[in-house]
Amino acid sequence: MCGIIGYVGKEDATPYLLDGLRRLEYRGYDSSGIAVLDKDGGINLQKCAGRLENLRRQIGDKPESGCCGISHTRWATHGEATDENAHPHFDQSGKLVLVHNGVIENYQKLRDDLEADGHQFLSQTDSEVLGHLIGLAYENQNGVKESNSEERLVAAVREALKKVSGTYGIVVMHVDAPGFLVGARLGSPLIVGLGKDENFLASDVSAVVAHTSDAIYLNDYDLVCLKSDEFKVERIDGGAADFQVSQVEFSAEDVELGDYPHYMLKEIFEQPESIENAFRGRLSDEEASAMLGGLQMSPQELRDVDRIVLVGCGSACHAAMAGEHIIEALSRIPTEVEIASEFRYRNVPLDKHTLVFVISQSGETIDSLGALREAQRKGFRVLSLVNAVGSTIARESDGGTYMHSGPEIGVAATKSFTSQLTLLTLLGLLLGRMRDMSVSDGQEILREIRALPDKVREVLKQNERIKEIALKYVEAPGMLYLGRQFNYSTALEGALKMKEISYIFASGHASAELKHGVIALITEDLPSVFVAPKDSVYEKNMSSMEEVKARKGPVIAITTEGNQELERIADDVIYVPDTIECLNPILSVIPLQLLSYHFAVARDCDVDKPRNLAKSVTVE
Ligand code: GLU
Repeated sequence: MCGIIGYVGKEDATPYLLDGLRRLEYRGYDSSGIAVLDKDGGINLQKCAGRLENLRRQIGDKPESGCCGISHTRWATHGEATDENAHPHFDQSGKLVLVHNGVIENYQKLRDDLEADGHQFLSQTDSEVLGHLIGLAYENQNGVKESNSEERLVAAVREALKKVSGTYGIVVMHVDAPGFLVGARLGSPLIVGLGKDENFLASDVSAVVAHTSDAIYLNDYDLVCLKSDEFKVERIDGGAADFQVSQVEFSAEDVELGDYPHYMLKEIFEQPESIENAFRGRLSDEEASAMLGGLQMSPQELRDVDRIVLVGCGSACHAAMAGEHIIEALSRIPTEVEIASEFRYRNVPLDKHTLVFVISQSGETIDSLGALREAQRKGFRVLSLVNAVGSTIARESDGGTYMHSGPEIGVAATKSFTSQLTLLTLLGLLLGRMRDMSVSDGQEILREIRALPDKVREVLKQNERIKEIALKYVEAPGMLYLGRQFNYSTALEGALKMKEISYIFASGHASAELKHGVIALITEDLPSVFVAPKDSVYEKNMSSMEEVKARKGPVIAITTEGNQELERIADDVIYVPDTIECLNPILSVIPLQLLSYHFAVARDCDVDKPRNLAKSVTVE
């Protein structure tokens, strides 16, 4: 959440910063702002509430030029989305500016103390307090004659950070130290982009990939000093930092929209390739199994696993719920799902044969990171299933596997969800083949996994038909989503998509739960979407569908190709190709993604930047 980009180089900073903010806007879009150190040594600061477009308009076509600047696109935690609360924030002297991602938990006490000393605040944010603290620490070092301004600024950042609790990714700039930026992180992501005669600090690499593919993923408690041709990474306490320069694995083109009207649609249509990327090189015909070397566990260690805990938030949690069914069915290992934000504050009993698996697209989700650290603190092995290479969760886990889905920009998760399901199936297959799964069952799963990309293409061909269905129900007051077994979580995910981008109240349920309460909601106006492939619970699902129809509720059914029977009961039927039961959710969720997409477009909602949301949830 929240996008930061800082630039120091030989060129005019403003276009770099605005372009970087455009690429980071998916992380937050309550307000944006930019501060550039102009040629006369003053800070030119422009900021305003609302989308980046507003800031562009405010700046106009004659931006103040200067070769060093910082900028921010905000997802508000403290204080409304107003012009005043937009970042960057000045310190008391007006000579220092700061951008911040995260939450300063003790900001109120610090603010009270500073106000008592005469500081005046212009915003309600926690972030502004940190700016004042750093500025104050800088001023208080006036007596240190031998220090130059850059050293003083670094020392001030160090001193101020000692006083705050919470999380931060910050970049600071001071008029006394032109061409010099200081960044630091704890709990919020920050990367350094290394260019030729120019360097960057940003929340993620997508902001800099148009200019360089050399990046340093900073660790918690790292502090970086940046000039156009120089960088220094240290620990905040002054110790030596352990860092390396990595190559970004995608290009600037991958983060462009191309011919699609929205990133969400683009990413839905990328699923044949993203699913293939998830399993490419990971299937072993010889063993009729999967190869997941990144887990860094010996066959004996994998055989010793007697319990799995899958941890995630939002769509990743729904993937985990499907994973529970998949892993238990394929390997018979007891598997549980924990919502990351709950897990991290709960004293979950684990033993040494428990494997904790944290699932996160961005690899920066703070609740999932907290869960990872909590489990590691207790001495457990924690693996990760992450998309963003080099992200904090990927770095801190004891092993894991990357999704290789490519950047996911649309705030509503789509391709990362199906990649997660694919990889959880590979995990189930690997563990199953080490236990009592037969060669022929393993081979069948491999065959079906390989067939997925083409089957997904088949589903995508129905886009127009799904759009028609969406338009038919677009005035619906809400939606119910129902499914069972492997597809219970598909129903939850379908409902989540609908809520997050269409703002229609939607809820997902296990089909049989209908009669325990939810059926009271059924009216002629409330559509129910049933995920009802021809599987072991098909007849049961059909009965639930009949119960809805008996009460005049409209029904949209997702079922298996060739199964015409549901045309008789449902008002609208969407077909997906046949596959084995555990892989069906990968196919069935796609019509639900498309349905919510077309609903949102028809209702004029901002598909890629839904209200109140942001991608990569880096605050608690
Ligand atoms: N807490 C800060 C604010 O509300 C930063 C939020 C963020 O990380 O987006 O302005």
